[in-house]
Amino acid sequence: MKPETLLYPTPKGLYCEKGGFYIDPVQPVEKALITHGHADHARAGHTHVLATQETLDIMRIRYGDAFCVSSQAAVLGARTGIGDITASFHPAGHVLGSAQIAVEANGTRIVVSGDYKRRRDPTCAAFEPVPCDVFITEATFGLPVFHHPDDRGEVAKLLTSLRQFPERAHIIGAYALGKAQRIIALLREAGYDQPIYIHGALARLCDYYEERGIGLGDIRPATQDVQDRQSFAGAVVIGPPAAFADKWARRFPDPVAIFASGWMLVRQRAKQRGVELPMIISDHCDWTELTETIREINPAQVWVTHGREEALVRWCELEGIAARPLHLVGYDDEGE
Ligand SMILES: [Zn+2]
Repeated sequence: MKPETLLYPTPKGLYCEKGGFYIDPVQPVEKALITHGHADHARAGHTHVLATQETLDIMRIRYGDAFCVSSQAAVLGARTGIGDITASFHPAGHVLGSAQIAVEANGTRIVVSGDYKRRRDPTCAAFEPVPCDVFITEATFGLPVFHHPDDRGEVAKLLTSLRQFPERAHIIGAYALGKAQRIIALLREAGYDQPIYIHGALARLCDYYEERGIGLGDIRPATQDVQDRQSFAGAVVIGPPAAFADKWARRFPDPVAIFASGWMLVRQRAKQRGVELPMIISDHCDWTELTETIREINPAQVWVTHGREEALVRWCELEGIAARPLHLVGYDDEGE
């Protein structure tokens, strides 16, 4: 079967006509397969949703019980028949519950990787390469200039700053799903055993990670009524990026503004956000990881969904792999 007829882009998202389902649709549909819980991939309002148990739980936490009419949990590695199609979910290493989705019919297999990374992450299962005819990849950091340093070095920068400025609160902006918990887990691995204070928007997701056996240590709410202002001196406080714009961030004593994102390797972006200590920690692949993953999987074709498509398409062509951009809309490569 021609891969273009098995799965193709539509304004609602990637569509599998034979199975009657969309993958990560950006508008409400009858049948949706969801790769992971980030808001641009997992939206409320579909009738039926197939996703990993963690992704379903995360959607329930974010949108409430009525996020869909019915749901089915996909077990990693298990094959599910949908009409004449077989679908299977495989770890993507992006955030807790994240999965690549393999779609198969008549001997043709397409893997939709969703968002993924190759670095070790103590908070989720590692990416598994799945042999396929077509590998669909994002290209958030799809330029050769993008190279993410070792996470441990970035965490060490934070620990150094805490020692240097024991009187200042260290306020870290980190996305509520995945990044925040990963930073906490990395700090714990580095031996940091002090309480870590979190913004209310992170509470339920952090609790959920704990429930799934991902230890985050002593986590406390960063609420002013519980603590007096000075008690945050020298403390690590984590909040979602949006909280930095409002008065929440101003309650802390002489804060060190920190932001944890792959984009922090672009100095201009750190400056624009008023970030004093950029931590380059990404839940996406950098250029080397994107290209090494494609070499490892060695598919006949690569389709590129969003990000910097052109450079990656060109690289594939030079490697002798047919490639094309899909120009999917509705996915946010800034919200990383
Ligand atoms: Zn994502």
